[in-house]
Amino acid sequence: MKRVLLLLPVTGYRNDDFLAAAKRLGVQIVAAADYCHRLAPLWGMRPLMSLHFDQPEHAVEVVLREIDGRPDAVLAVDDSGVELAALLAQRFGLPGNPVSAVRGVRDKLTFRRLLREHGFPCPQFHHLPSGEDPRLWPMELTFPVVVKARRLSASRGVIRADDFAALLAAVQWVRAIQSKADRDHRELGLVIEDYIPGSEHALEGMLDRGQLTTLALFDKPDPLEGPHFEETLYVTPSRLPRATQDRIRQEVARACDVAGLATGPIHAEVRVNDRGIWMLEVAARSIGGLCGRVLKHSLGMSLEELILRQAVGQPMPGAGADGAAGVMMIPVPRRGIYDGIEGLTDARAVPFVTGITITAEPGQSIAPPPDGAGYLGFIFARAASPAEAEAALRSAHGKLRFDIRAGLPVRAG
Ligand code: ADP
Repeated sequence: MKRVLLLLPVTGYRNDDFLAAAKRLGVQIVAAADYCHRLAPLWGMRPLMSLHFDQPEHAVEVVLREIDGRPDAVLAVDDSGVELAALLAQRFGLPGNPVSAVRGVRDKLTFRRLLREHGFPCPQFHHLPSGEDPRLWPMELTFPVVVKARRLSASRGVIRADDFAALLAAVQWVRAIQSKADRDHRELGLVIEDYIPGSEHALEGMLDRGQLTTLALFDKPDPLEGPHFEETLYVTPSRLPRATQDRIRQEVARACDVAGLATGPIHAEVRVNDRGIWMLEVAARSIGGLCGRVLKHSLGMSLEELILRQAVGQPMPGAGADGAAGVMMIPVPRRGIYDGIEGLTDARAVPFVTGITITAEPGQSIAPPPDGAGYLGFIFARAASPAEAEAALRSAHGKLRFDIRAGLPVRAG
C-alpha cells in the first residue's frame, strides 16, 4: 500500500475531499496538521504530527524525527503547506518541485522580478520595505496602482489605489493585515504595482516532468476592478477566442518553466487585454476552496483523486463528460458574525444548479477581502453552455439571504 504524507491545514476546505480520495484509491495517509493534537478529536481524525507550516525548516525536523520510514509522496492540501511539502520531498529524496521554485512563486515580488527578467508582459512594480514611509518615497507612480502583501492568498491584503491619498490608506491597511497574517511581515514589506485592466481568467493544470496539461480554463465573468478583489464566479470552458486560450496556455507553461516548477498541480491567474496576457500569479497548488469540485464531471474523478494518483504513480484515466460548469464562491457581503441562511431550498431548485455547500458556521466571525480570505460557501452548476451555468449561479445566489450580525467594530489599520 502506498503511503502519502499529507499536510492538512486546520482551516482547510478540502481536507475531507483529500481523505475521501485516498480511501477510494487505497492510499494510506500519514496526516500532519498545522494545529494542536488536542483539537484533533473535534475534527474526526488524529494527525500523527502537528506542525507549524509557516516555519518549514523547523517543521521538517519534527517530521523526520516523528515519521516511521519514508513516505511514497508528500502533498500539501493547500497553499499554506506547499513550501513545507517541497522541502520534505527534497529531504526524503522524492520527486517534487524545487523548494526555491515553490518559494519564488509564492512571493509576489520575486515572481514579478522573474517575469520581468524573462520578458513577460509585466506591470511596473516596486518594493515598499516595512517601516518605509511612502510619502518619502522617490518612486514615480502611475495611478491606479495595486498594493499587495507579498505572500498572502485569496485576495487578502490586495487593494487598488487611484490616487496618493488612497495609496497611503491602502499601505497602512495592508501592513496591518500582513502583520497579523504573515510571521515574516517585517522582512517582506509590500509590492506596489500598476493596475492591469482587462478580463480575468484562471488556468487549472497539472505538470508532469515539466509538461503542462490543462485541466480547465476558467473565465471570471464578474468585473474585478477593486478597490478590493473579492472573487465570485468561475465558469468553464472559457468563452475567449480559441487563439487567446492557446496563448494563455503557452504563457502559463512558459512561466512554470522559467519558475522551475515541474510537477504536480498548478493554478494560474491571468489578465487579458489588447496588450497581451498578463500573469497575476502561478501557484504550485490546485484551485482553492471547494472550487475543484466543479471539475469532477469533466475529469471523471475528483481533482484530489487526480492529484493523489499522480503523486503515487497510479494510472491517470482519460477525461470525463463534456459540457459547461461553474462555481460561485459566495462572497461575504460585510464584516460581522454569521448567524444563518435562508432561501437554500429555492436556490437548490434553480435549473442547472447541482449543489450548494455552506461552509460558514453560525457564530463565526467573517470579513470580506482585503481583511478576510474565506467564503460563506459554494454554489455549483452544470449546463450545456457557460452562459447557462453562469446565469444559474447568479439566479441561485439571488435567492439566498444571509443573516449577519454586527460584530466588533474592528478594522485593521
Ligand atoms: P492572491 O494571491 O491573494 O489572489 P493576487 O496577486 O492574485 O493575490 O491578486 C488578487 C486579485 O487582485 C487578482 O485576482 C486580481 O483580480 C487583482 N489584482 C492583483 N494585482 C492586480 C493588478 N496589478 N492589476 C489588476 N488587478 C490586480
